[in-house]
Amino acid sequence: MIDVKEIRKDFPIYNREPKLTYLDSAASSLKVKTVIDHVDHYYQSLGVNVHRGAYDLAYEATKLYEEARDTVSKFINANADEIVFTRGTTTSLNMIANAYRDILKEDDEIVVTELEHHSSILPWMVTAQKSKSKLKYVPLTKEGRITVEAFKTVLTDQTKVVAITYVSNVMGYVTPIKEIIKLAHQKGAVVILDAAQAVPHMAIDVKALDVDYLAFSGHKMFGPSGVGVLFGKSKLLNMLEPVEYGGEMADDVFKDHATFKEAPLRFEAGTPVISGAIGLAAAIRYIQKIGYDQIHEHTMHLKQYTLNQLKTLKGITIYNETADISTITFNVDDIHPHDIATMLDQYQVSVRAGHHCAQLVSRFLGVGSTLRVSFHIYNDINDCDVLISSIKASQDFFLSF
Ligand code: PMP
Repeated sequence: MIDVKEIRKDFPIYNREPKLTYLDSAASSLKVKTVIDHVDHYYQSLGVNVHRGAYDLAYEATKLYEEARDTVSKFINANADEIVFTRGTTTSLNMIANAYRDILKEDDEIVVTELEHHSSILPWMVTAQKSKSKLKYVPLTKEGRITVEAFKTVLTDQTKVVAITYVSNVMGYVTPIKEIIKLAHQKGAVVILDAAQAVPHMAIDVKALDVDYLAFSGHKMFGPSGVGVLFGKSKLLNMLEPVEYGGEMADDVFKDHATFKEAPLRFEAGTPVISGAIGLAAAIRYIQKIGYDQIHEHTMHLKQYTLNQLKTLKGITIYNETADISTITFNVDDIHPHDIATMLDQYQVSVRAGHHCAQLVSRFLGVGSTLRVSFHIYNDINDCDVLISSIKASQDFFLSF
């Protein structure tokens, strides 16, 4: 069982803000001390570039950077040469969509869903426009879920790309991805999985999934911002044109042509995010120490307790009661979500309000914006109680006019 008092000792923000009720981990998690220490160590004791220098410090920095790649690869059961360090999920997804602009042709089809975060739709919308291919949407169930049956209705012999979320950042539903990947492969399509919301909550095995590409960010899993991962099967990565050109990604450069390295360095032009990669590896070790079973059990308990309490209030609409992870999306009747969020801040309660960079989900729900609370290991029952009492206080305040 998770002992939140002990866990909070690992998160220095609670020294500054002991009364913080942080319920916005789906946007960005709080940062754990071991990550901060590892990033600090790089800057305090090394601070030099990787892959380039012939001196001791450079060897040490390179060793830490490549060990981080190793840690990431084992974490998702990939090979080290299939792990590209990027700036985050958004960059990873854009890199693949950009690379496919020259591969896709007129009449090819790209399948996405209405549950996608903008970073899993917009790059493909532009790629579809530029390559004259067609963007198709998997219809959602009434509850807002992606199902295998619905996926089958848009899958055709023309489907070349399936870009899909593993876990929705608004609804918290887990996509039945294994079966979808199998079906997509039968048509010869590649699958790009947005795992930004999955990695903080569940173990990922890219080999078991047989997924082609997968993206996630460090900052949602206790790691640094500014670092993320692009996984790609090595055969596929080496077939793609590099996305950026520059230092350490070329083999031989002549006046009129050049040859490029294999993945992953092929996709890491310029000085990479060295401290970020080292910090991300520390975050992974921390998650592994806690264990996903414990994370799931703890956060789902908080979610269920909060749902039960929310239902005791009047005028609450909950949109995703059956979420598979600990995300609750809701509205308070007659009060704008931004007003509630601002009021909750008076009680040091941090929640998210808006369309959560997933406007198609808001449109599906038929609302402009919603409130979202999301839990992680540093939250406890008291956080849930403070949330509920401050929503009540907000209702009393706004509805008294
Ligand atoms: N996809 C999903 C499902 C997300 O929740 C997010 C972050 N809100 C992203 C992609 C984008 O991640 P980042 O901002 O770290 O690039």
